Amino acid sequence: MRRDVVKVNLPDSEIPRQWYNIIADMPVKPSPYYSPVTGKVVVPEEMEAIFPRELLVQEMSTDRFIDIPEEVRELYRQWRPTPLFRARGLEKLLDTPARIYYKYEGTNATGSHKLNTALAQAYYNKKAGIRRLSTETGAGQWGSALSMACSHFGLDCTVYMVKVSYEQKPYRRSFMRTMGARVIASPSNLTASGRAILEKDPDSTGSLGIAISEAVEDAATHSDTNYSLGSVLNHVCLHQTVIGLEAKKQLEMIDEYPDVIFACCGGGSNFAGLVFPFLMDKFKGSKLRAVAVEPTACPTLTKGVFAYDYGDTAKVAPIVKMYTLGHDFVPAGIHAGGLRYHGASAIVSQLYHDGFIDAVAYGQKSVFEAAVTFARAEGIIPAPESSHAIRAAIDEAVRAKEEGRERVILFNLSGHGYFDMSAYDLYFEDRLEDVEYREEAVMKSIQALPKIAE
Ligand SMILES: *Cc1c(COP(=O)(O)O)cnc(C)c1O
Repeated sequence: MRRDVVKVNLPDSEIPRQWYNIIADMPVKPSPYYSPVTGKVVVPEEMEAIFPRELLVQEMSTDRFIDIPEEVRELYRQWRPTPLFRARGLEKLLDTPARIYYKYEGTNATGSHKLNTALAQAYYNKKAGIRRLSTETGAGQWGSALSMACSHFGLDCTVYMVKVSYEQKPYRRSFMRTMGARVIASPSNLTASGRAILEKDPDSTGSLGIAISEAVEDAATHSDTNYSLGSVLNHVCLHQTVIGLEAKKQLEMIDEYPDVIFACCGGGSNFAGLVFPFLMDKFKGSKLRAVAVEPTACPTLTKGVFAYDYGDTAKVAPIVKMYTLGHDFVPAGIHAGGLRYHGASAIVSQLYHDGFIDAVAYGQKSVFEAAVTFARAEGIIPAPESSHAIRAAIDEAVRAKEEGRERVILFNLSGHGYFDMSAYDLYFEDRLEDVEYREEAVMKSIQALPKIAE
């Protein structure tokens, strides 16, 4: 281990040339998707109404490595490889024998890891002759990433933004508009799914599940338009593996290997991105621990059920076997908007079910406390989502101190929080509430799960 490390940079030539497809190495593969229309296993043709063929091939691929197109890799060069930092300020503050490292994915203009997949998805859609992409955004990071990617490839972009975020985060809206996107508050009256929600509840503040329904409907009803999803799907997790592939090289360069890795988990893509390349070793016997960190307001892995469920509220997206709180479950409006999804990636879910990864949940007050501690010690203001991983990393470092043992901790700083300053203000004014998920709401929602005969 090299003692003097502050930051590990890699040259451009070390940007990965291939993504890592963990499915190739999983002892139990994720279950196939089912069609909400036929109730049978989805055939690729059904999904071709909304996705380009090359992404569907990736979605179902069992090849261990998949080439990154040169054009995408060239765009990655604008900000990749991303730095790996040693959290010296935080270590000192905590007076811990643990060594803490973090991979920082917030160095691009959109401020999160999501650009890794947005560029790839826009590329394959452009190649397939598509003119416009539709999508949803919760916190605004995904909408920002896709807007920028579409602008790179000359595609139009329509973003259905969950209404509560549309109102909470006006500058995310401005960012997307600057990149040329059309931003619509969801639920809207532009789609049948949006109108159905508004009829029942005109004041609905929206949810990711509702916004997905609107975006999918938009794509399915326009032949020149495809749909794009920022998390959950296999190909999204695949594209994010550049994070872990780089981090592995960076740690190797300084002769380190993590004992434990933390990443926050909404749909699971930044967790997948950092953790999957390390799980390659775990399948061969490494003792490494990987922990997904979620909010207590939307505790999909720690409190959900492992079952088939719809990916969205209006039941237009495929049915996925995953940990879920039920597609009708609308989590409280916590400020980590990117973690408010009722389900999780099928791959991450299967790995959790099979005991390869762990999960923990935290309330938002303790998460913001960790965020502020980190900001003051390290000089980067973290996204509320990423701060879940910080909370868990700090607690692990404190345990290391109590046990008087060294430990190498790695976490994903999936994004910065510079568009989330109003949430920080609420924290300083003691106006943030710790919201527990409502167990009755989940029980009720789970009764509406689809019945799939495997
Ligand atoms: C969207 C987002 C997340 C949550 O999504 P995952 O797919 O679980 O990674 C986490 N952190 C940031 C900064 C995000 O923008």
